[in-house]
Amino acid sequence: MIAERMKALVQGSSVIRAMFEEGKKMAAEFGAENVYDFSLGNPSVEPPEEIKNAMKDILDNEKPTLVHGYMNNAGFEDVRKTIADSLNKRFGTSFDTRNILMTVGAAGGLNVILKALLNPGDEVLTFAPYFGEYKNYVSNFDGKLLAVEPDTSTFQPNIPAFEAMLTAKTKAVIINTPNNPTGVVYSAETLKKLAEALENAEKKFGTSIYLISDEPYRELVYDGVEVPYVTKFYGNTIVGYSFSKSLSLPGERIGYLVLPDSLDDAGDIINAANVANRILGFVNAPSLQQLAVARCLDAKVNVEAYDSNRRLLYGTLTKLGFTCVKPDGAFYLFMKCPTEDDKAFAAAAKKYHLLLVPGSSFGCAGYVRIAYCVDHAMIERSVPAFEKLAKEYGLQGNAGT
Ligand code: PLP
Repeated sequence: MIAERMKALVQGSSVIRAMFEEGKKMAAEFGAENVYDFSLGNPSVEPPEEIKNAMKDILDNEKPTLVHGYMNNAGFEDVRKTIADSLNKRFGTSFDTRNILMTVGAAGGLNVILKALLNPGDEVLTFAPYFGEYKNYVSNFDGKLLAVEPDTSTFQPNIPAFEAMLTAKTKAVIINTPNNPTGVVYSAETLKKLAEALENAEKKFGTSIYLISDEPYRELVYDGVEVPYVTKFYGNTIVGYSFSKSLSLPGERIGYLVLPDSLDDAGDIINAANVANRILGFVNAPSLQQLAVARCLDAKVNVEAYDSNRRLLYGTLTKLGFTCVKPDGAFYLFMKCPTEDDKAFAAAAKKYHLLLVPGSSFGCAGYVRIAYCVDHAMIERSVPAFEKLAKEYGLQGNAGT
């Protein structure tokens, strides 16, 4: 018999994954070219050549006991130093080896830091819409995730609503920029206000509130938009980074946490995160991937391919009369449903073989997420299906304007 708490988790298992499975079934039934699967955030562009070459070279030329052996739980020292130096150069920070902890992707990093920080009953705030797994990660350590209601006009964090939810029990806040599912990049102005609200709350309650910035999409931005580095706004910031999207390596499971010296109790947090990485069973992040990414910190995937998908999709949908905030980053578009019931809308879309994820999976009903990390040709083929969907809801397109 499985654990009671696991039963609920199995039952509520990821809607997105279920859609992905459904997409595969539909492809078998109707032909892959007739199904438009926008459900999963699996990078569609290839990893850069550099990463493949680095892996080969490491396997051929590095000492096998180094490449395949255990190491310090935080990861290889020289890898962490290389990452710290690269961040310092890019963002004018002053991190050192001790501030970097190599993790099993962003998911591993979030679980490590939440294990290091949370006591049972601690509250963790996040901003709707949010990556649904946060709820599971927080509950892994008996914390309580509370979502701040969205400002749907911009999808920047709703600071007044956030201020009203900060209490003496608030231990951490998770933000995600560029954002999944909206594609919005949090502005410097927003981050300044967020930091102010946090500092005021820390003073008011006499507590430390840790801001966890989840940044797997940092490198995927368009039109020259800058993604501000969050540690510069607020001393109690921890950054979670991942190479899953920036280098198209989600299967390799590699990322890192930045644990700055400016954190309250920095030394204890760094030690605790090291132990958490070990006892959660990760032990250390994958060794070959650590060595490979350290050689490829300046390598880039073909962001233009995502940008071209973004332009085509945004242009098509707005022309048909749908509304959505134009995404500045990541590879998602969050579209307002022409009806309140997002699940009914996603079901209607499925009739035309369009797989879209209901916004309620991200704590924001009335919207659907469209992942455009797909083949450009698939988006082109999907246009008639979106046209039919718009027609079903009586949308007035503005094709001639
Ligand atoms: N955080 C966000 C916002 C994500 O969208 C994802 C994956 O899609 C993750 C974390 C997990 O990423 P990783 O593959 O690095 O564990």
